[in-house]
Amino acid sequence: MSRVVIMGSGIAGLAAAIRLAVQGHQVTVLEQNAVAGGKIAERRVGRCRFDTGPSLLTWPQLIDELFVLAGKPIPQTLRYHRLPVICHYFFADGKKLQAYADPMHFADEVARVLEVAPSLIRRYLNDSARLFQLTREVFLLRSLHDVRTYLSLPAWRALCNIRSLYAWTTLHRYNSTRLPSPHLVQLFDRYATYNGSDPFQAPATLRVIPHLEFNDGAFLPPSGMYAIVQALQLLAEACGVRFYFSTPVQKILARRQVQAVFTSDGKRQRQSWPADIAVSNVDVQLTYEKFLDGLNCRYRHRELSTSAMVFLWEMNRTFPELGLHNIFFSSDYEREFAALKQGKFPADPTVYLNCSSKLIPSDAPPDHENWFVLINAPARTDLDWPAQIAFMRKAVIERMRRALHVDVEAHIIAEAVITAADLAAATGAIGGALYGSSSNHWRSAFLRHPNRSPHFKNLYFCGGTVHPGGGIPLCLLSARIVAELIARRHS
Ligand SMILES: Cc1cc2nc3c(=O)[nH]c(=O)nc-3n(C[C@H](O)[C@H](O)[C@H](O)COP(=O)(O)OP(=O)(O)OC[C@H]3O[C@@H](n4cnc5c(N)ncnc54)[C@H](O)[C@@H]3O)c2cc1C
Repeated sequence: MSRVVIMGSGIAGLAAAIRLAVQGHQVTVLEQNAVAGGKIAERRVGRCRFDTGPSLLTWPQLIDELFVLAGKPIPQTLRYHRLPVICHYFFADGKKLQAYADPMHFADEVARVLEVAPSLIRRYLNDSARLFQLTREVFLLRSLHDVRTYLSLPAWRALCNIRSLYAWTTLHRYNSTRLPSPHLVQLFDRYATYNGSDPFQAPATLRVIPHLEFNDGAFLPPSGMYAIVQALQLLAEACGVRFYFSTPVQKILARRQVQAVFTSDGKRQRQSWPADIAVSNVDVQLTYEKFLDGLNCRYRHRELSTSAMVFLWEMNRTFPELGLHNIFFSSDYEREFAALKQGKFPADPTVYLNCSSKLIPSDAPPDHENWFVLINAPARTDLDWPAQIAFMRKAVIERMRRALHVDVEAHIIAEAVITAADLAAATGAIGGALYGSSSNHWRSAFLRHPNRSPHFKNLYFCGGTVHPGGGIPLCLLSARIVAELIARRHS
């Protein structure tokens, strides 16, 4: 039995802890915050509860898998609700479209609103499903830094079909040549933002993402997203994992391999945690810069994914035209991403509105709603935040006034704001980036940091800043890859 020390209790840290405890290791998790979850967090504002991080859950089987592995029943809190409508879209010209989860129904809705042949949508989603099947084994389920991956049959299959990845064309260019409506192009371009990328730069391979939503489904746990963290923490504890909260890691003691991890309790008390195996769930760049400082190894994200500015509003009325997930598109998507590329906020942002009280009535008082309002933001923490918040708040309210024909501001009765700087401070994310590195280049998948350190033979990495990338499903897969690598090398 090895002593495993995991730094950070984000979703990947929790999943890695469960998997390694099940393998028989003695697992300790060190977390700087008072609670687990990292970017998956919750908060009360006014009389409402908000999930302040992810709101869209896909591929929940990866969560269920952890319970199966540990031989425990899946709790009631994770009996997910499969959404019949994935998103309500509001376009800049006033057109509205509901993205039904059933691909046939969605294709009919597209035909009705945008006069596009349903067969075209079905073909697009079928292509997306085919690409997912072709790429998932190599790009998602395995380490890209293990020679065995390239000797496998799925790798050869993917290589033989390399042209169908469309890795050398951008998602926007691909969509523009396949879809006859600018509204549809904008709708499918948006999937690049699911990992914080820019559709005008990111490879068309990202068209695999709609497959997960439409063919596989989008879900919500019955009491909200934070229930995932609570259930996984309980599962980890049941497997024997020990958690230490408010225990920030300061240093990793290592020569050729990690020997111990040092933490502080905030009162300058240093504590040493001997480790046979160490796993960092903290942003990989921060791990090198802060914990391994001076050890002649470094890593820098080549290009960060986007961050976000989030407004949490308690609204004193309900809005029947809204659903759980809503998108209010900007009038010029290209200009919006050009501003983000320059490190600026766009003057006319696309607004994402999540209203969990539509499905979870206890999240807001009767006849009120909890609005989680998110706009894409550059991943930087050095801005004049009061000025930026004031500017973007006005732009968001104006965009929603145009769509809903209501003075939204007059109905906000409690409010909080989250910026990139807040995200960086709360989770250690460099620049407050939501997904670590962007996927704006066809080589991004190969340039992301591996799950095992090239410098220290018993140091591993899981989470959104390393392979295979950000977002809940990929973070869970990173934990799976780490557990497999450890089982192979240390058992
Ligand atoms: C606003 C927002 C919206 C999002 N929307 C979605 C969505 O809809 N769907 C989706 O799938 N994904 C979404 N994401 C992305 C998703 O939340 C992340 O990819 C995922 O949660 C990252 O998990 P992780 O395992 O990388 O760890 P993180 O959540 O990054 O956690 C890292 C942990 O390390 C801890 N830590 C940092 N420094 C130290 C230290 N010195 N010592 C000890 N501990 C430390 C942190 O406190 C934190 O708990 C969103 C993220 C945000 C912020």
